[in-house]
Amino acid sequence: MSEDIRYLKGVGEKRAALFNKKGIKTVEDLLYYFPRSYEDRSETKEIADCNEGETVCINITVFSPVKDTRVRRNMLISTMIVCDQSGALNVVWYNNKYVKGQFMTGDEYIMYGKITRNRGKKEMINPVFEKKGSERFTGKIVPLYPLTDGLTQKILQSSMQEAIKAAGRLEEYIPADIREKYHIAELNYAMKNIHFPDDFESYNIARERFVFEELLILQLALLSRKDDNTACDAVVFDDILCSRDFVKTLPFPLTGAQKRTLNEILSDCKSGKMMNRLVQGDVGSGKTAVAAAAIYTAVKNGHQAAMMAPTEILAAQHAQTLDEFFKDTGINVVTLTGSMKAKEKRLAYDMISTGAADVVVGTHAIIQDAVEFYDLALVVADEQHRFGVEQRAKLAAKGNNPHMLIMSATPIPRTLALILYGDLDISVIDELPPGRKSVKTYAVGENMRKRIFAFLEKNVKMGMQAYVVCPLVEETEKSDLQNAEMLAEKLRNVFPDFNIGLIHGKMRPKLKDAVMSEFVSGAIDILVSTTVIEVGVNVPNANIMVIENAERFGLSQLHQLRGRVGRGSEQAYCILFAHGSNEVTRKRMETMCISNDGFYISEQDLKLRGPGDFFGTRQHGLPEMKIANLFEDGDILAVSQAAAKSIMEEDPHMESEKYMELKKRAERIISDGRIMN
Ligand code: ADP
Ligand code: MG
Repeated sequence: MSEDIRYLKGVGEKRAALFNKKGIKTVEDLLYYFPRSYEDRSETKEIADCNEGETVCINITVFSPVKDTRVRRNMLISTMIVCDQSGALNVVWYNNKYVKGQFMTGDEYIMYGKITRNRGKKEMINPVFEKKGSERFTGKIVPLYPLTDGLTQKILQSSMQEAIKAAGRLEEYIPADIREKYHIAELNYAMKNIHFPDDFESYNIARERFVFEELLILQLALLSRKDDNTACDAVVFDDILCSRDFVKTLPFPLTGAQKRTLNEILSDCKSGKMMNRLVQGDVGSGKTAVAAAAIYTAVKNGHQAAMMAPTEILAAQHAQTLDEFFKDTGINVVTLTGSMKAKEKRLAYDMISTGAADVVVGTHAIIQDAVEFYDLALVVADEQHRFGVEQRAKLAAKGNNPHMLIMSATPIPRTLALILYGDLDISVIDELPPGRKSVKTYAVGENMRKRIFAFLEKNVKMGMQAYVVCPLVEETEKSDLQNAEMLAEKLRNVFPDFNIGLIHGKMRPKLKDAVMSEFVSGAIDILVSTTVIEVGVNVPNANIMVIENAERFGLSQLHQLRGRVGRGSEQAYCILFAHGSNEVTRKRMETMCISNDGFYISEQDLKLRGPGDFFGTRQHGLPEMKIANLFEDGDILAVSQAAAKSIMEEDPHMESEKYMELKKRAERIISDGRIMN
């Protein structure tokens, strides 16, 4: 199995190099290079029964060997007449100088190809063929592999046949009791039938085995990492009841879901083991209040806490929110961001290292080398800051294995959550604070622009504020900017009395902050922006969200943007300018108009856009799979999860002989970096 591919019969140095390009180095690698599809060449017909348009196998005898005709300088046509007992047929090849001389009258062949008709006569064009008696590529279901320059299907198919022969009997590594329990096929059967299935049923059984195997190993990797993460001893918060003092100071009672989540967090912090928890909650579900309660508890237990935000604007807002929450508690909140002046930074560093700062809020600047904490015990971060092994080590070195709390406002279907966050404990805040008015959402076309502008005008005159968001256009950053700038200019012309602000991703953080704080203070009436305001920003007085070219956004993203309004007491509105009359766009906009539920919306997004577009898969941290389809193999995913859990319960470190190989494979996924940070 581990033999170099170059020693495989029919491969050699040159082809080995091509295989290597595809990451195939050993016979085992080759065996796990699965077909991308199959061609059913199992049906064999007599010539007389062949219909035009069919792709079939025929058993033939050569009647008259190949004749070449050169039609033009660059067009060679080779024809041959073949027959069986039912009739005769022309076989035609275009520009194939190798077929001449291959066939002798009377030779028996099997040919596979498409039947066409030319001047009333049946023809088969460019067929696959092989001598009768040793069928390798015909008369069966044939695998088609992803190709690379210089490797043809035939090379891959025959190399695969050699690999299966060479590997001999493969050693099974999924224990028999697990295979029995979950009805999973044995390895040798599966390996043969994934490449050369006897029929489609055998193929399905084989595929199921490898999907199960792949997902099982992934789950084992995630679970064992979760185990590693939480195995560390961490600070114990002795007094978790003090959190109640904080909750009492809030101007509202916590919702049931908030209470439950807070309890889960606090019991982690009391456990003595390191917390690694994800809090998932729709926009406006009140994640910040829960995080603040956890931070309060950390500080009251004598430790420091940190909160990490993805942007400077958000960091500033979080700092402000926490300042507000903690104003009568004596808790000292310090901000640290990359754009601060060296002098300000130094001051912040001092406060952090001496413990004068109880809470540090900032961008990822807060885990940089120069920052030394006095006693860091809790880190709250946005989901964009998944903690990889390295960052974790860095953080651990700064504190005494601080507890980690990750916040996510992206509701995703449960099956995906298992893969994305399988290494974390998850709390879901699945309840909105009572009395929320839902945002009224309308999808409109250009013909409504005048009316929408009139509506904006009326609203601003009443003292409210609005966001106008334009999408990031793919082409260049410059055109993004132009888009937003042009729109701001247009609005300035339409509303000469209003103060129109502009904020975009290319602006210096300082400037962004300045504009944003003008908007927060109410000095700016309408804020034009690219999607930089997407997450977290909170301006209760803004009650209208206009989104230009809404069709270019993902539904989850639209939902996030919409979550920026409806935070005050006034009725809030979301206006989606959508272009194009495409059916999918129409349905997507309709989904936004009828629902305010992030989980429902993300499911619809998945359905309407299809798996590929959802999230921009890779960037969102979903691992690349060899055979499993994370969106369609939900059933097998659930089964593999159950299997992984029971393995880990039986043998938490997979130390026994029977799990050795599975363990090796799980470790390999982690060391290959296939599961993300
Ligand atoms: P998220 O971060 O989950 O999107 P926030 O934490 O920003 O939501 O909360 C949204 C708004 O709801 C804030 O103004 C917050 O003060 C308020 N809020 C949070 N929890 C409650 C609650 N239990 N009852 C009423 N209002 C709440
Ligand atoms: Mg928030």
